Amino acid sequence: MAALDEFSEIVQRQVPLAPFTHLKLGGPAEMLAQPRSVEELSRLVRACSEAKIPLRVLGCGCNMLIRDEGVSGLVLRLSEPAFTQIEVRNDRVRAGTGASVASLISASARHNLAGLESLVGIPGTVGGALRTSTGDRSADLGQFVHSVEVLDSQGRVQVRHRDELQFGEQANNLDDPVLLSVEFALQPDETDLIVKRMRRAWMLRKGAAPAAFQAAGRVFKNPRGLNASALISQAGLERTRVGGAEVSDRDANYIVVHPGATSRDVLRLIELIRTRVEEKFNLRLEQELTVW
Ligand SMILES: Cc1cc2nc3c(=O)[nH]c(=O)nc-3n(C[C@H](O)[C@H](O)[C@H](O)COP(=O)(O)OP(=O)(O)OC[C@H]3O[C@@H](n4cnc5c(N)ncnc54)[C@H](O)[C@@H]3O)c2cc1C
Repeated sequence: MAALDEFSEIVQRQVPLAPFTHLKLGGPAEMLAQPRSVEELSRLVRACSEAKIPLRVLGCGCNMLIRDEGVSGLVLRLSEPAFTQIEVRNDRVRAGTGASVASLISASARHNLAGLESLVGIPGTVGGALRTSTGDRSADLGQFVHSVEVLDSQGRVQVRHRDELQFGEQANNLDDPVLLSVEFALQPDETDLIVKRMRRAWMLRKGAAPAAFQAAGRVFKNPRGLNASALISQAGLERTRVGGAEVSDRDANYIVVHPGATSRDVLRLIELIRTRVEEKFNLRLEQELTVW
């Protein structure tokens, strides 16, 4: 696309996206860019806006299913050092949205800062986790956010402060196209206590999740006061299979992907689960997994 000619050093065409996602499924991106600085990213966002090119940001692809036919427009990956830095000052931790949640948690714990340790074991980047309001019953990332630096649709840097942000259950009002960095406000605590809580959270999460060797994705949000895994189990759907996609027997809110599976298999299984749960409980499950 001529509109993006000046970005030829960082934009590639027809790039398979499957390797960049947890499920390893789906087709290519029409264009993929890995900008090297905020300034370059900002110009790229502006150019896309002017040329009306759809723009999306891919984190680690842990909450993502790419359709077999691929994605039109531009996909951004914020994997260059300008977007993955983590800085700690007093009780504040500032993380680029391309940094992993794991590195954010370990940097905080190393500086005796508590709060995020119960999220240990949740895969993804800080940007993806914030966008999807990642968390569990013990905590969610949003509750520790002090401010978020974003790019608006014109590529301008803006700061969203705590008082204008709302973090609800599995949702928030951060709708800017690109999240750049996040400042977290944490609580000082003793290292031993942080590590102990981290170990406990790790064991609980690993005990419940599908086995580590399985490619598996969480599918639905928990309906208010209910648990999606329990509803899917009670509808008798554990181990239900469509093509190469199967409902996990360890946590029914995960779909496990076997060799040879396609995105279409996963989408058909999702629809089957939704229909059966609706028939049994008269309740329509809302999807957590992002589909491009
Ligand atoms: C095994 C497994 C266990 C999981 N356990 C949990 C759990 O316990 N609790 C929980 O809440 N979730 C869980 N998840 C879901 C997932 O980990 C989170 O949603 C995750 O943090 C997503 O991060 P990501 O970088 O992979 O985002 P992606 O999947 O790449 O993207 C998710 C969304 O975020 C957007 N996005 C990503 N980065 C940016 C950015 N910088 N700016 C703007 N938008 C952006 C994408 O466009 C997309 O809409 C689990 C997933 C797996 C596979």
